[in-house]
Amino acid sequence: MRWILLLGALLGAARGLQIFAGDQVLRVEPCNTEQVHLLKQLEAQESLRLDFWRFPSYLDRPVDVQVPFACLQAVKVFLESHHIKYSVMIENVQAMVDEETREMELSQRRERSGNGFNYAAYHPLESIYKAMDDIAAEHPQLVSKLQIGESYEKRPLNILKFSTGGTNRPAIWIDAGIHAREWVTQATALWTANKIACDYGNDPALTAVLNTMDIFLLPAANPDGYVFSHTTNRMWRKTRSRVPGSTCVGVDPNRNWDAGFGGPGASSNPCSDSYHGPSANSEVEVRSIVDFIKSHGNVKAFVSIHSYSQLMMYPYGYKCSNPKDAKELDEVVKAATSALTSLYGTKYKVGPICSVIYQASGGSIDWSYDYGIKYSFAFELRDTGRYGFLLPANQIIPTAEETWLALKTTMEYVRDHPY
Ligand SMILES: [Zn+2]
Repeated sequence: MRWILLLGALLGAARGLQIFAGDQVLRVEPCNTEQVHLLKQLEAQESLRLDFWRFPSYLDRPVDVQVPFACLQAVKVFLESHHIKYSVMIENVQAMVDEETREMELSQRRERSGNGFNYAAYHPLESIYKAMDDIAAEHPQLVSKLQIGESYEKRPLNILKFSTGGTNRPAIWIDAGIHAREWVTQATALWTANKIACDYGNDPALTAVLNTMDIFLLPAANPDGYVFSHTTNRMWRKTRSRVPGSTCVGVDPNRNWDAGFGGPGASSNPCSDSYHGPSANSEVEVRSIVDFIKSHGNVKAFVSIHSYSQLMMYPYGYKCSNPKDAKELDEVVKAATSALTSLYGTKYKVGPICSVIYQASGGSIDWSYDYGIKYSFAFELRDTGRYGFLLPANQIIPTAEETWLALKTTMEYVRDHPY
């Protein structure tokens, strides 16, 4: 085992990649508030280099944490000595990353030999951008590409606009991939772009939506982070901006919006994975979306797509009181997720962010809701933790297909309830 780990480590290191040989993901199930508190203390111990895939929050919410091989023993002893229940979800993170890389390389070879874009595979950023260009070129009457800004490292922030005409029609905004490592979200967004382009004129419900509304889709909201998650660290979540006075890089772009900025559920420590940044909208990726939505002026629905946990949520995250439209929003997420579940039986939980996951300030849909976009929703796609961020590529299309039913239900509702 040790030799295999060492070999894997050497090969990965030779390519400049962060390696996770022998790292495990533990599912921890605290059973009292004292144990939740102990997990939060563990989270604060930077020297352990723990990566919380799901942060500690409430009693009945399991915590998923990636533990480096070198700290496994110590962390397990800590949990056992405090009688905190845990199980091993992922035996060896690197083995799963290697499998993912193998599949991706195989798919790319097939694409290069003329098989066309494979929606059932993960892709580097340039392939996603090329596929967006191709979709726009193949459906010029419906689809156009717009650049809404530039990332910190000067990559274009590209969106697809789906419009059948008119000027400044009411619009639906959908973004994915604001957290870099949530790879199924960028893949789902791209599949969705192709689905919209192909189904217009064939699917009466979608056609009716597009005859009165425009759709804007941003498949890779954090392109720098996404590239970094391919080239250097598969588990990268944040942006890649440099923080003055710190050696740590990046801001959590979903703690950076001007909605309860700096409040509970966001960290002021630049080395934390939930670091909120020096100020609201400090991240150009966030600022670009805010500027676009404001300048458009007629966005009626705002949807952010994350993974994982199988949730569809509405505001608020920065506070635990319900928004004034809670009753209606609750009906929408119930209808949307029941359509989603009808396809493959995938179960979703719904509700306001604060009660469904945890209190988290500076999130996108809290900003959009407070800005006046009533229909503001966040998804957490598959799965519930078996694979987490390393969801196998053969689940991309089923995930996208079921999510599409929820998106379509939401869009039809928005069309039928103008405000
Ligand atoms: Zn996320």
